Amino acid sequence: MELIYDQSREGRRAITLDALDVPEAALPRDLLRTEAAGLPEVSELDVVRHFTRLSQLNFGIDSHFYPLGSCTMKYNPKIAEAVAALPGFAELHPHLSSDEALWAHCQGAFEVVYEVEELLAEIAGMKAVCLQPIAGAHGELAGTLLMAAYHRDKGHTHKKKIIIPDSAHGTNPASAAIAGFDIVEIPSTPDGAIDFDAYTAAMDDTVAGVMTTCPNTHGLFEPRILEIAALAHKHDALLYYDGANLNAIMGECRPGDLGFDVMHYNVHKTFATPHGMGGPGCGPVGVSERLVPYLPGPRVARREGRFVLETPPRSIGRMAPFFGNFMMAVRGYAYIRHLGNEGLKDVSRVAVLNANYIHARLKHAYTPAFAGRFMHECIFTAAAQAQKGARALDIAKALLDEGYHAPTVYFPLTVKESIMIEPTETESKETLDAFCDAMLRIATRIEEDPMAFRNSPTTMPVGRLDEVKAARDLNCVC
Ligand SMILES: *Cc1c(COP(=O)(O)O)cnc(C)c1O
Repeated sequence: MELIYDQSREGRRAITLDALDVPEAALPRDLLRTEAAGLPEVSELDVVRHFTRLSQLNFGIDSHFYPLGSCTMKYNPKIAEAVAALPGFAELHPHLSSDEALWAHCQGAFEVVYEVEELLAEIAGMKAVCLQPIAGAHGELAGTLLMAAYHRDKGHTHKKKIIIPDSAHGTNPASAAIAGFDIVEIPSTPDGAIDFDAYTAAMDDTVAGVMTTCPNTHGLFEPRILEIAALAHKHDALLYYDGANLNAIMGECRPGDLGFDVMHYNVHKTFATPHGMGGPGCGPVGVSERLVPYLPGPRVARREGRFVLETPPRSIGRMAPFFGNFMMAVRGYAYIRHLGNEGLKDVSRVAVLNANYIHARLKHAYTPAFAGRFMHECIFTAAAQAQKGARALDIAKALLDEGYHAPTVYFPLTVKESIMIEPTETESKETLDAFCDAMLRIATRIEEDPMAFRNSPTTMPVGRLDEVKAARDLNCVC
């Protein structure tokens, strides 16, 4: 594709500024450029065509089915965009909130922050929520710092370890390590659950916490989660809930009721705000009663009918400027209010139904990684296909030519040649069927010719990339 710089023609402009009608003022010398900025000189139409074409080179949820396991790539309803675009939100400058005279302008935004925090707390059974963290992983860091602050206050200097199952997302051990903890990895059983005996053996008074998710990253509801929580609490260890899988259980069960003390939400996953390519995200942290005094601050509180800012007494401090990615919270608010109680329940029920439908249609062509009942995502292993010569990666690339974004492959690390499919609730049966037909066509083709997809994709703007090099050298066609 032609670069926008190649389209540059001297003197061509997208906008023309009106003639100056105020006196010209001299800028300070150190703010002046010493050489031209080197921007392309193009018309508005050149810019619009260029970026529209660029956007069409990519897969997006608005253009393609995107069953990327663990990422909950559901459709982001446009009503949330309309609400976020309301001038009262879109034109609010974050620094207004630090000026007492302009306080009134922020009351509506504060109310949204307050209400989203209340709604999220209610959905997951937490005592309080703080919107600040700007990604799930950032919420994990906030949560593990909260655990550290709690134990420090209690004089638990011996509590240095955090137990994490081997199926966990890589950000879990990374966040806990940044917060200063040592990681103890627990294996999974062949049926995909936390190995309870290994867990019991690892648990003692030096354990500060346990990080897990439920359903776990194998897509299975953790059968002994209540016993896992009880044993942690017996040793005054805190239980952390990775909220990335909340889409499976809304309105059916709440992490707080299962015994979790601290968690993050992935608003950009469960609550349908656009995500991918690194943000902007929204990863609020939620806590049970005993961790409330440590929450990041300042927080919005309601006092005598007005919203004010308060910092909790033992706060770990700020995790992000202002209130995190506020506009994501506005979108999440619109989404939750639009669906209501019953709507959110339906979200999870249909998400689980859709994953199980795909599982049922594909289970004879691809080997399910576990025998149990999947929740909102289903995992297969392409080990049998790989033995013949077609790896999970080849299947993922073949799907691109069929018009689908690939599922997650090679995660979780516990499953060989893993293919992790999360359809979400927003896809129709027709889309699920067409996707399953494509997966079955690929399986049949592999039976006939295992090398058939070695060079896939062949219909995309670029062919098979060197996955490592391409991430570092964005201009490479390897
Ligand atoms: C996505 C995800 C995370 C991290 O969330 P980000 O918002 O991407 O930082 C953590 N755990 C699991 C299981 C996830 O799927």
